[in-house]
Amino acid sequence: PPVVALAGVTKRYNNGTLAVQGLDLRIARGSFNSLLGPSGCGKSTVLRMIAGLEPPTSGTVAWPEAGRPSLGFVFQDPTLMPWRTALDNVALPLRLAHVPKPERHRRAHAMLALVGLSEAAGSYPRELSGGMRMRVSIARALVTEPELLLLDEPFAALDEITRFRLNNDLLRLWEARRFTAIFVTHSIFESVYLSGRVVVMAARPGRLHADIALDAPARRD
Ligand code: ADP
Ligand code: ADP
Repeated sequence: PPVVALAGVTKRYNNGTLAVQGLDLRIARGSFNSLLGPSGCGKSTVLRMIAGLEPPTSGTVAWPEAGRPSLGFVFQDPTLMPWRTALDNVALPLRLAHVPKPERHRRAHAMLALVGLSEAAGSYPRELSGGMRMRVSIARALVTEPELLLLDEPFAALDEITRFRLNNDLLRLWEARRFTAIFVTHSIFESVYLSGRVVVMAARPGRLHADIALDAPARRD
């Protein structure tokens, strides 16, 4: 069964904007999916409805396997806490979940190692580059081992080389942890490079335009 299944989902905001229309979408467990399309076509709205941050106007967002899975969310702006070190920023979701300190430090260190930032554990966000801050943000989103990782144009503000490195980091993390990923982007390159499936929204606003399976079976199922 899929992790999440959207059926006939329409979203009309209170100001009358029709953001998503009649969307059917099933996301396979453990798959890496991109949601591609130009600005304003409804990608973020889809992600927010999946995260439960925004209710659909009609249609359903269903979780066939026993309730909503644990979620991680990565935004374009890393929103790290400036007074906390990289390690403490990564450990924060564990602290909120009342995980004891030794265990949260161990897990946060392990996540920092996975994103290649062990050396920066004690650094503060202002001492890190944009790409490093994004790595901290991804580590923070994954430290609770969520089943579903939602990424909303995370690399859009970064230069191309940093962006390419982060794409590779993300693939390595996915191979290590096998979470289900939904990656929102307006970069065709990124969507094709990263995912086993590219869902294209475009043309008429808020509608599905294409649904493409790529030659990367592991990332598809
Ligand atoms: P994308 O992520 O593809 O850029 P969005 O989902 O952000 O698209 O937006 C889809 C449409 O809904 C756009 O026309 C946008 O202006 C509108 N929209 C997004 N969020 C809101 C909101 N909170 N209230 C009203 N309109 C919104
Ligand atoms: P611990 O890791 O022992 O649980 P905390 O994470 O609660 O400690 O606090 C770490 C540091 O961050 C402390 O110096 C605390 O004062 C500071 N701090 C925590 N929350 C805030 C906040 N909202 N604004 C400013 N400083 C904060």
